[in-house]
Amino acid sequence: METAPVLFKEWSGYLKPEDISQLQSAYDFSEAAHEGQFRKSGEPYISHPLAVANILAQWHLDPQALTAALLHDVMEDTAVTKTEISRNFGKPVAELVDGVSKLDKIEFETQEEAQAENFRKMLLAMARDVRVILIKLADRLHNMRTLEAVEPEKRRRVARETLEIYAPIANRLGLNAIFQELEDLSFAHVFPERYRVLARAVKGARGNRREVVGKVLDAIRRKLKAGGVEAQVHGREKHLYSIYRKMREKHLAFAQVLDVFGFRIIVNDVAACYLALGALHALYKPIPGKFKDYIAIPKANGYQSLHTTLFGPLGSPLEIQIRTQEMHKIAEAGVASHWLYKSSDTSLSELQKKTHQWLQSLLELQSQSGDSVEFLEHLKVDLFPDEIYVFTPRGRILSLPRGATAVDFAYAVHTDIGNRCVAVKINQELLPLRTELKTGDRVEIITAAHAKPNPSWLNFVVSAKARSRIRHFLKTMHFQESVQLGERLLNQTLAALGSSAAAISDAQWEQLTREAGVKSKQEIVSDVGLGKRLAAVVARKLLSLAAPGPHEAPPPGSVVIRGSEGVAVQYAHCCKPIPGDPIVGIISKGQGIVIHTHDCPVIARGRNDPERMLDVSWDPETRKPFDVSIKLVVANRRGVLAKVAAEIAEAGSNIQNVAIDPEDGSDYTNMLFTLQVQNRLHLAGIVRELRRIPEVARITRVKG
Ligand code: MN
Repeated sequence: METAPVLFKEWSGYLKPEDISQLQSAYDFSEAAHEGQFRKSGEPYISHPLAVANILAQWHLDPQALTAALLHDVMEDTAVTKTEISRNFGKPVAELVDGVSKLDKIEFETQEEAQAENFRKMLLAMARDVRVILIKLADRLHNMRTLEAVEPEKRRRVARETLEIYAPIANRLGLNAIFQELEDLSFAHVFPERYRVLARAVKGARGNRREVVGKVLDAIRRKLKAGGVEAQVHGREKHLYSIYRKMREKHLAFAQVLDVFGFRIIVNDVAACYLALGALHALYKPIPGKFKDYIAIPKANGYQSLHTTLFGPLGSPLEIQIRTQEMHKIAEAGVASHWLYKSSDTSLSELQKKTHQWLQSLLELQSQSGDSVEFLEHLKVDLFPDEIYVFTPRGRILSLPRGATAVDFAYAVHTDIGNRCVAVKINQELLPLRTELKTGDRVEIITAAHAKPNPSWLNFVVSAKARSRIRHFLKTMHFQESVQLGERLLNQTLAALGSSAAAISDAQWEQLTREAGVKSKQEIVSDVGLGKRLAAVVARKLLSLAAPGPHEAPPPGSVVIRGSEGVAVQYAHCCKPIPGDPIVGIISKGQGIVIHTHDCPVIARGRNDPERMLDVSWDPETRKPFDVSIKLVVANRRGVLAKVAAEIAEAGSNIQNVAIDPEDGSDYTNMLFTLQVQNRLHLAGIVRELRRIPEVARITRVKG
């Protein structure tokens, strides 16, 4: 491990003198804060933050990130506060240190794979600044490199966590070099025996392989040179854990996994990539189906290269990667690669802009290949999360949409918890159910046995699940209430008809539901309760079904119409029946009945469908006004309309509508009135009065 002065000298290769002096004072500050603390290895503690900063310096990260790296453990392990860091090194540095400390506080408890994924997302979501994750990864990398000094129990736990949480994050951010190192270091501690065996085997095989590799390297170099392609060609070894993973996942023997030779070709530009590919395909035959163009279609983390597999000279497959220098940088350093070669005086906002630009450029690449939606989804979760991650009381992690409230959480846990929740404790504090949750919150729902969802919750829940469950509950409640009312109405009506609900057989109900085209008896009963069907109609229909056979007479008595039945009874617009008119009901499909006058043409047409005809009669007490149309033929004289209108008003009727034939110079003209009357008697009175007007020549009621 190099000392601070040596490293500062190295870093000054890309940092300005004033940056170095800030780093020097951060180093001094941290060293003083950690005074008296030692690593498990016995070294003074300051060696750890220094090493972490140095890892970040390899990616040419900015001075703020390096400063934060030097200070990353002071808040956790010493009495230093965020305010103090902010005062000494500026707010951005304090935010970074605070971000890393927050990540340290949340602990991954379960072993489930799905939970590991959520935990990774949670870490990424909590780190609003990608540099927080980079510092955390560098921290973990150094801890893994020095894990030997730690006691075995903790060693295994840390290594497993690295394998499940941190290595995949590094992979997702495209930090390939770190990803591989983290995996191999973890592998060595989680499965020490397997690691030893595999490492020995790889070492042993290397000797045999050297000859093949050398031969192929020579052939490739010569071929490329002949084709005029300037290139660096390297043999490539898989990292141990990827060999192990391949053996386990594909059930391959070690020899099978190792019987593959990897080569990497780095060229100057994109055109040269394809030139090199052509040259290689001419040298060795490509294996069909193995070629992948990640230049045209980059991977989600920005990785670009051409991949192809060739039949090698001794029959072993050769896996080839071809990429440019630029692509290689991204392949190795991923999200960190854009910091390389950036000027050191870039401010934080410019930095973020740069990150953004980098992501944007990936996005553009991606959209050319038409895969942008998936790519965007991926990025959103990683760096600009629109999901939050919260803990259940038992340490499980749930992901919820941004803006989710305690009620959303309750429904995410279980529908019953949602339906019965009454209050919530967030991080031990009792808060209203509408409280918006934040990533990292520990949420405990308080339920009560008889609690019910509140319709007002629909105003603030954001998850589809909560919304649909609340709606479902309210609808079910509504349904149950209307079923109860419908049953009562039906029982009354059946009793009035000399029958009872108990006398109706299942077969009768079945036939009725079939004819009405609904799923269940309950649906019909609920419709009765809601007033969508008339109890009398349903009752009569049921009774008529009790008497099969075409010759049976319909049950006695007619359905009495009051005019107050609501949507269950409609009055035909064609004939506009009014109380006193002889009427006939037609059962409309699924909903109630439509009342026509007995002489309406619709009825005449309906005669061949007697099943739908219903004997109905008016309740003598009906008081509701009904629309009726009359046509007047009047002498074409000034003021006649006023006279007629006055007479109608006098007779206690409202005029709903008037239509008068256009003036055509003739002596008589037609007036069509729609009036409101109580019944036939009322209408007759109006007509009698109108006949007294000298100009009125003829009056007829219009039907149909
Ligand atoms: Mn640390």
